[in-house]
Amino acid sequence: MFNGKSALVTGSTSGIGLAVASALAARGANVMLNGFGDADAIRELCQTLARQHGVRVEHHGADMGKPDEIAEMMEHTVAVLGKVDILVNNAGIQFVAPIDEFPPEQWDAVIAINLVALFHTIRHAVPGMRRRRWGRIINIASAHALVASPFKSAYVAAKHGVAGLTKTVALETAAFGVTCNAICPGYVRTPLVEKQIPATAKARGITEEQVVRDVLLAAQPTKQFVTVEQVAALACFLAGDEAASITGTLQSIDGGWTAQ
Ligand code: NAD
Repeated sequence: MFNGKSALVTGSTSGIGLAVASALAARGANVMLNGFGDADAIRELCQTLARQHGVRVEHHGADMGKPDEIAEMMEHTVAVLGKVDILVNNAGIQFVAPIDEFPPEQWDAVIAINLVALFHTIRHAVPGMRRRRWGRIINIASAHALVASPFKSAYVAAKHGVAGLTKTVALETAAFGVTCNAICPGYVRTPLVEKQIPATAKARGITEEQVVRDVLLAAQPTKQFVTVEQVAALACFLAGDEAASITGTLQSIDGGWTAQ
């Protein structure tokens, strides 16, 4: 499906990003991984994916909060894989606190990684996509791009920003075979969600079990976490030729959360 295509997936050493990168590799794309983690484990991950799927899999450790490192990663990807056909902006962090107690440095980090980084990867990727008249930009936003929850001011602000950026880039790129869409998952049980369970318990003064039942899954009528495989399958569909007319959209995959 993606033979001969090159994909860059930010934040792909864990969670949703890893599932998306694996699914793209399984469908024939060469992939540049990005994200933090143990160097040996990441090397092994690259080798395993490459061997399993007969594609090239590399890793660049750029910090998505640092524009100069993002620029370096984009240049490196073109140097190593030849181009960026499919850009998946997935890296993201969360911080949970009431607005008047929200540490300003945490606000800055969430906005930098969850929103500003996308401006930088996209601005570097678009010229090559325009030249080749084919490209796919997929931003992993969140149900929090559409609705808010208390104590997540920076995250909700960043993800709503991603929604606006997605629509704007879609309009600017539509005429030359490039699409830009956002995927808006509900709760997916990844390390990002595991980490916020104790913080949400503290902020709301409830137990961790109550957070899972009464806060996280309370939002999702299916009463099920969304799985990383489901998000990866949607990303692959948006990256395919059958999705050429889908652009500027916010695709909910949230167990009915935002239908309420
Ligand atoms: P995760 O914590 O499992 O993975 C995050 C990935 O991003 C990791 O590979 C990590 O190393 C990387 N990363 C973190 N900070 C980085 C930085 N500064 N530079 C480069 N890489 C960095 O998280 P996840 O749950 O898989 O989330 C992935 C995306 O999906 C995020 O944008 C998140 O907001 C979004 N999302 C997650 C959920 C959910 O319930 N898990 C729901 C909606 C949206």
